Amino acid sequence: MKQKYAVRNLNLCTKDCLCLYVCPTGASDTENSIIDVDKCIGCGACADACPSKAISLVPVNYPKQQVHNNELVNKARNLTKNKAREENIASNDKSKLLVAINKSMRLVNEDLFRESGYMLPQSKNTHDLLKEINNDIAKELLKIEQND
Ligand code: SF4
Ligand code: SF4
Repeated sequence: MKQKYAVRNLNLCTKDCLCLYVCPTGASDTENSIIDVDKCIGCGACADACPSKAISLVPVNYPKQQVHNNELVNKARNLTKNKAREENIASNDKSKLLVAINKSMRLVNEDLFRESGYMLPQSKNTHDLLKEINNDIAKELLKIEQND
């Protein structure tokens, strides 16, 4: 059974198509630029060939998450809310400085989410949060996760 599959970062991709030529299964040759997970065998040839380092191999199954201290998670969650608020405020202005601040907030926020266990699809925190939100989109996401 395959252990990894390839994902492409479209922000880095220069569309020179080298990955398409080296892929033995055609998984990289898709209309929507998303590598076909079902066809990908995780050989890594595309990642080695990509001059832009736009392709990474990610594990099919992530290791079990560490248990996080609740106090720490709550603090990270509050900090995340503040960063998201700051990001929204900065996004209302198109000046170069505020665009830069906006991007920087997003990066900090992603780190915070990752640290507090919200980034992985299998994360218990993410599942709990989706159950708490409990709207149609959250229910749909939970259903997809359960079917995977
Ligand atoms: S080799 Fe890299 S830069 Fe070229 S198309 Fe593939 S992912 Fe994009
Ligand atoms: S890891 Fe191998 S099979 Fe998967 S997309 Fe890249 S070259 Fe194709």
